[in-house]
Amino acid sequence: MDPIIRGEGKKMQWYQLTPGDCLDRLGSSAETGLTDDEARQRLARHGPNKLGDEEKISILSLAVHQFMSPLIAILLVAAIVTYLLGEWTDTGVILLVVFLNAVIGFFQEYKAEESVRALKGFVVSKARVVRGGREREIPGAGLVPGDIVLLASGGRVPADLRIIHAIELRVDESMLTGESLPAEKGAMPIAEESLIPGDQANMAFMGTAVVNGRARGVVVATGAATTLGEIAGEVREIGITKAPIQEKMERFARAIGILVLVASGVLFGIGILLGGTAKDMFMTAVAAAVATIPEGLPIVVTIALAVGVGRMARHNAIIRKLQAVETLGSTTIICSDKTGTLTKNEMTVTLLYDGRHTCEVTGGGYEPIGEILRDGLPVAAAGEEQLARLLRIGLLCNESDVYEEDGEWRVDGDPTEGALIVAALKGGLSPEAEEEAWPQTAIIPFESERGYMATIHDHGGKRFIFVKGAPERVLDMCTIDSAEREATLRIAGDFAAQGLRVLAHAWKEIPPETGKLIHDDAETGLCLAGLQGMIDPPRPEVVEAIRGCRRAGIRVVMITGDHGVTARAIAADLGIVRDDAPVLTGRELEGMSDEEFSDCVREVSVYARVAPEHKLRITRQMAASGEIVAMTGDGVNDAPALKAAHIGIAMGKGGTDVAKEASDMVLTDDNFASIFEAVREGRVVFDNLRKVTFFLIPTGVAAILSIIATMIMGMPIPYVPAQLLWINLVTNGLQDVAMAFEPGEKGVLDRPPRHPKEGLMSRLLIERTVLVGGLIAVGVVYTFTDALRNGATLENARTVAVTTMVFFQFFQAWNSRSETNSIFSLNLLSNPFLFVALIAAFFAQLAVLYVPALHVVFRTVPLTAAEWGTILAVSALVVVVVELDKWLRRRGQQEDD
Ligand code: ATP
Repeated sequence: MDPIIRGEGKKMQWYQLTPGDCLDRLGSSAETGLTDDEARQRLARHGPNKLGDEEKISILSLAVHQFMSPLIAILLVAAIVTYLLGEWTDTGVILLVVFLNAVIGFFQEYKAEESVRALKGFVVSKARVVRGGREREIPGAGLVPGDIVLLASGGRVPADLRIIHAIELRVDESMLTGESLPAEKGAMPIAEESLIPGDQANMAFMGTAVVNGRARGVVVATGAATTLGEIAGEVREIGITKAPIQEKMERFARAIGILVLVASGVLFGIGILLGGTAKDMFMTAVAAAVATIPEGLPIVVTIALAVGVGRMARHNAIIRKLQAVETLGSTTIICSDKTGTLTKNEMTVTLLYDGRHTCEVTGGGYEPIGEILRDGLPVAAAGEEQLARLLRIGLLCNESDVYEEDGEWRVDGDPTEGALIVAALKGGLSPEAEEEAWPQTAIIPFESERGYMATIHDHGGKRFIFVKGAPERVLDMCTIDSAEREATLRIAGDFAAQGLRVLAHAWKEIPPETGKLIHDDAETGLCLAGLQGMIDPPRPEVVEAIRGCRRAGIRVVMITGDHGVTARAIAADLGIVRDDAPVLTGRELEGMSDEEFSDCVREVSVYARVAPEHKLRITRQMAASGEIVAMTGDGVNDAPALKAAHIGIAMGKGGTDVAKEASDMVLTDDNFASIFEAVREGRVVFDNLRKVTFFLIPTGVAAILSIIATMIMGMPIPYVPAQLLWINLVTNGLQDVAMAFEPGEKGVLDRPPRHPKEGLMSRLLIERTVLVGGLIAVGVVYTFTDALRNGATLENARTVAVTTMVFFQFFQAWNSRSETNSIFSLNLLSNPFLFVALIAAFFAQLAVLYVPALHVVFRTVPLTAAEWGTILAVSALVVVVVELDKWLRRRGQQEDD
C-alpha cells in the first residue's frame, strides 16, 4: 500500500498530527503546494479523484424495452395468427416491421439517453488549489494527495483534507454523520485514538459542504480511498429526472394503446356479426390498431427535449433537470442577481471621498493606469494624509490580488477588492511597501450578511483595525457627529445615483495586546476614512435581452446586495424600470406582513440590500401570486430560493457547488442573456412537441375513421395491415423525428408565456385535428371508392388509397410546421432533417410502387398517370384547407387586437 496515503500499514490518523507533520509526510508545502510535475506523477499513481465510474447505459434493458409496448404485442399476436393461417408473406412483413421498429427505437433511445447523460459531464466539480506557488482552479478529479486546497463557503470539499489553517470554518457533514448542525473546524491536532469522522474536528471530508468561513487544507486521500469512498462505495448521482411531459406522454400513448386494443376487439366482433370472415376481420382489427397507436410520440418527446437541451448548452445554459426545458417555456418572471449576471462584474473606482474632498479617478479596467484628480488636477497619496489613509485601507483590508498576464490585467479574488487595489496603485501606493510597513495579523473576511470586512495591522509599534463595507453599516460603527454622518451619506447617495457601488472605509487604533479580531472590537468607535465609488458596467447584450423579455411578456426583476439607489440607477440603465420606480430593501421587506408584501410584489422590480433569506420569501410570494419564477443565485445561502423557484439558475463560474446542486439550470457564462436564450429554446421545444402531435394524431384518426367508414359502407377496408405498418413506421416515422428538430418560428418571443396548465393539445389543435382527421379520411375513402368504381382491382384501389394517405402525410408534415403562419412563408430548408426525411419517404414510397419484389410484400401495383393526378389533387386539399383555417384565425386575431 502506498505510504503516502496509508502511513505505516494501518490507516493514518491524520488528525493526530500537526499540520507541519502532515505536510512533511505528504511531501508538500502550505504556501507553494506541489509542483505540476509532482502532481502529474501522483495522479498517475493514485488515479483520478473520482468515486467509481459512470454507470453504463444498459444495452440489454434498452433492447428489451423496445418490445414492451402494446403495439409490439399486437404485432406479435398478428404474426402468430397470420402464420397459423398460412399467410406467410404477412408474417414475414410483420416480423420485419417489428424488427425494424425495434432497431430504430433502440438507436433513437440510445442517442436520447446518451445526450441526457452528457449533461452530467457539463457540471464538473472544480477545486481551488495552490500548485507551484500559484492559486488556480482545477477539475476536482485532478486532485492528488499532498495538494493544497482552498475552501470557501458554499463549496463542496473535493477530497479528504487535513485542515492547516481555518477562519470561522463550519462544515455540514450530515451526509456522512447524519448530524444536521454544521461542525466547527480548526487546525489543532487531536490526541485521541480512533475517532469517528464526526469527531475529527481538523479534517474536512470529501462531499461535505462548507457553510461558513474559509480554510486551507492538504489532501490526504482521494477517490475511493476517502471516507466517503469507503463507506458509500457509490456516489450520490446528480439526479436527471424524467420530465413530467415525458411521463405524461408515455402514459398518454399507453392509454391510447390499450384503448385501441379494446376497440379493435370490438371492431373484430362487430365485423363478424356483420358477416365478415374471422380472418378478414382479424386483419382489419390489427390494421386499425397499428394505424392508431401513436407509438412514435414518447420517443419523439424525449428527442425534442434532448434537442432543446443541446441547443441551450450551445447558448451556455446547462440543463440539470429535464423538466426545466418544459417549464422555461412558461416562465413569467426572471429574478436576477445584479453583479456579474446583469453587469460585467468588472469594477473600477471612479469617484472617491477622503473625508474632505471628492476626487475623480481616471482609467478603466484593472490596468493601474490613470490618475486621481481633485478639481481637475492630479493628486497623489504622498503628502495627502487623508487620501493616503483611504487608499491604504482599501489596499490592505483586502484579500484579492491584481496581476498582469499575457498583457491583460486581471483580478485574483473579488472584483470589488481588485478595484480598490487599482485605485491605490493609481494614487501611487506600492502594495509591497505597504504590506511590509503594515503587516496584517488578523482578518474577518467579507460576508454579505455582515456587510463589512475587517483586518488588524501593526505599524510603528502600534496596532490598528481597518474596516471597509457598505456605508450605512460602516457609519453605524463609527464615532462621528450627526452632521458629518449626514454629509457622508449624502455624498454616498450622490455616488450611488450614478450607478456606483459605494464602500465606506474606517479605522481605529487598538491596544497592541489585542490579538484575535473579535467582531465587537471592529464594530464600535471607528474613525471614518472616506468612501470609494466604483462602476460595474452593464453587459451590453443584456439590454437587448431585457427588451426581448418585455416583448415576450416576461418581467425581469433585479435582486441585489447593493444599495437601493445604485440598484435603481443600474436597473434604469438596463431598461428594467423607469428611474423613478419603487425599490424595496431587505429591511423594508422584513417589516412587511405577507399580505402587505403580496400587494407590492407585482409593482416592485428592484430589490436592494437583500439577504439570501429575502430571496426565498420573494420567490414564494411570486409563486403564490401565480407566477412561474426563474431565480438566479450563487451563494450557499441561495440554495433554498433556488429550490423554491420553478427554475433555479446557478452561476457556473462564480457559483458555489451547493447552489449548483440546488439548481435546475447552470449558466456557464453567468450571463443574463443566456437565460433569455434558454427561455426561447424552451418555447421552441414545446412548440415542436405540439407540431409532432398535430402531425401524428390526425393521421392516426384518419386511418381508423376510413376503416370504419368502409366497413359501414359494406366495402373491403382500404389497406392491408402491411401497408399500414409501412405508413406508420417507415414514412411517418422519419418525419415525426425530423420535426423535433424544427428551428423555432420567428414569433416565439413575441407572444406571452404559455399557461403552465395548458397541455399539448390546445383548443386550436383539437379543432384542427378533427378537421384534418376528417378530411384525410374522406379523401382516402374517396380515392379508394373512385378507383373501384373505375374498375380497378382491389389491390390497385388499395395502392391508390395507401399512396393518397402517404401524400396526405407529406402535406400534413408541412402544415404542422406552424400553427398560425402560412407554410409558404417558411423556409423549406430551415429544417434540413425534415426536408431529407420527406425526400427519403418519397423515394421509399416510389420503391413500394415500382420495385416488383416489394409488390408481393405490400400487395401494391404500379400507378397510372391519371391515378397519380387524382392522388395529388386530393391530398393537396389538406394544405388548402389548413391554410384557409390559418388565414381565418390570423384575421380573427388581428380584429381582436
Ligand atoms: P448582487 O446581489 O448584485 O450580486 P452582491 O451580492 O455582490 O450584489 P454584496 O456582495 O452583498 O452584493 O455587497 C453588498 C455591499 O457590501 C456592497 O454594496 C458593498 O458596499 C459591500 N461590499 C461588497 N463587497 C465587499 C467587500 N469585499 N468588502 C467589503 N464590503 C463589500
